[in-house]
Amino acid sequence: MTKTPAIGIDLGTTYSCVGVFQHGKVEIIANEQGNRVTPSYVAFTDTERLIGDAAKSQVAMNPTNTVFDAKRLIGRRFDDLTVQTDMKHWPFTVVNCGGKPKIQVKYKDKRKKFFPEEISSMMLTKMKEIAEAHLGKTVTNAVITVPAYFNDLQLRATKDAGTIAGLNVFRVISEPTAAAIAYGLHKKVEGEQKVLIFDLGGGTFDVSILIIKNGIFEVKSTAGDTHLGGEDFDNRMVDHFVEEFKRKHKKDLTSNKRALRRLKTACERAKRTLSSSTHASIEINSLFESIDFCSTITRARFQELCADLFLSTLDTVEKSLRDAKLDKSQINEIVLVGGATRIPKIQKLLQDFFNGKELNKSINLDEAVAYGAAVQAAILNGDQSKNVKGLSLLDVAPLSLGIDTKGGIMSTIIERNTAIPTKRTKRSYTVGDDQSRVPIRVYEGERPMTIDNNLLGEFTLAGIPPAPRGVEKFDVTFDIDANGILNVSAINPSTGRQSEITITNNVGRLSQNDINRMINEAKFYKQEDDKKRERIAAKNSLKDYLYKLKKEAFESMIPKHRKKIMKKINKVCKWLDANALAEKDELDCKLKVLEDEYNLIINNQESEQSLMNQ
Ligand code: AMP
Repeated sequence: MTKTPAIGIDLGTTYSCVGVFQHGKVEIIANEQGNRVTPSYVAFTDTERLIGDAAKSQVAMNPTNTVFDAKRLIGRRFDDLTVQTDMKHWPFTVVNCGGKPKIQVKYKDKRKKFFPEEISSMMLTKMKEIAEAHLGKTVTNAVITVPAYFNDLQLRATKDAGTIAGLNVFRVISEPTAAAIAYGLHKKVEGEQKVLIFDLGGGTFDVSILIIKNGIFEVKSTAGDTHLGGEDFDNRMVDHFVEEFKRKHKKDLTSNKRALRRLKTACERAKRTLSSSTHASIEINSLFESIDFCSTITRARFQELCADLFLSTLDTVEKSLRDAKLDKSQINEIVLVGGATRIPKIQKLLQDFFNGKELNKSINLDEAVAYGAAVQAAILNGDQSKNVKGLSLLDVAPLSLGIDTKGGIMSTIIERNTAIPTKRTKRSYTVGDDQSRVPIRVYEGERPMTIDNNLLGEFTLAGIPPAPRGVEKFDVTFDIDANGILNVSAINPSTGRQSEITITNNVGRLSQNDINRMINEAKFYKQEDDKKRERIAAKNSLKDYLYKLKKEAFESMIPKHRKKIMKKINKVCKWLDANALAEKDELDCKLKVLEDEYNLIINNQESEQSLMNQ
């Protein structure tokens, strides 16, 4: 039996993409609409849940219950500044649930709240189903990509989303790394190459510098902004037109979520147009209080509106070069990834920064990340194809990791950009006389004081024997696995006993109970979706049958019987109109009754005809 392939999923802020490595090559899988990327949108209506294209296409009609940008919330706290800023732009509601953000929607007339992990798991389920429809079998193993700058909590939350979706997440890899894999495979790189991946998507921006040598990809540095991308450019244009509307009509349309959403969709389209034309126009009928809105924008004006954002991408490029201790002249290839790198001004700025060096656009901007994830999934699944054999990957810890020491000083145990997996131990001493317990607080970040860094979790090392301060010692070990996931342990070596470490606070992460509950809920939603699919199939069978009968009634029935069957047909048609939400059983039953009635009438017609022929 052949092994079921593992899939690679690019879980994007605005779009997601899934690929599979089969028969020695990567296939990017199209969804049921034939699109190779699927909008990362989940919508809730009075009757159903929609994911992907179906969700995005109804967003203007249902803005408060259509969720997007879940990736901007995942693994973050409610009071996080970026969450607070983002919330102002979202038409859906985010509420504070014990410090974590939850998205509140109306579904089937009831108020429901979802963690970002749940929304992401719905997206992952969709991508899993797209792959399953293509492969004709169940898929469980996957590699998922995340921005290079995701912290430990965001990584874990993404893995949790995979678990809720019923996936066995082999590994979470960074998006630029995945793109580099795609690039390496394409180019069959020889010798050593220093590659800079410039990835500007819908909501995130990453720059990574990698060294590719003999099939080994080593990430030298990563830098980025989890809050910069095409959507920010859309928002700048939205603000511009909101002001114009105010000037022209003396009205502020921002109070109307639907109007804002329609304007945003039009701006996104105009932004794309401006990548190939110097002008774009906007026309929206009845945008606000029955006022039609028509306007134009030039490429130059758009560039001006976004100038600071565009320029800021170069700061990140400089930072990644500094971190990798490389001069820009040493970079062999500059690779573009992400839809927003199509913007000519961004390409121009980057090319000028590298003194006119040609940018590499040889890999598909929208699909490169899923492509690389699919290759990595195949390797981890044991694929022996010569295209992937011998390929390996070294990733790095994107932020420094350490513990809190006396006076709130950060004692770094693993430095930023250390290759992972890695394990480091640091020895510390008690700070009080007869101290029996040591609280160990784990932080990530680059600031010297822990208060300015990000608290990841707390442990307590207990059972230290009484002694004057500074005598008893303990060793804290940080262990990062290949997924970038951190485990911390502590031991009191002088007694030779390994003390128990209890995690007392895993800030912001879902509990196992939460995850289990969500797995069950995800199954429930899947059952509902399956039920809906069955209902649609039953309705289609009934409609097909009605059509067939009508045709037959006119082609081969005598008027008396035609009249009878037409009466039955019309009755069922009317019933169908009045019962749009009828269940599968009801539809099947209608079909069966109609079949019996038809058979009876046709039998009567046949016996009458044979009597006449005698
Ligand atoms: P990604 O997250 O890589 O799929 O990128 C999606 C972002 O790229 C969205 O913000 C799109 O509006 C943007 N995008 C796609 N095509 C273009 C284009 N031709 N010009 C400018 N931006 C684009």
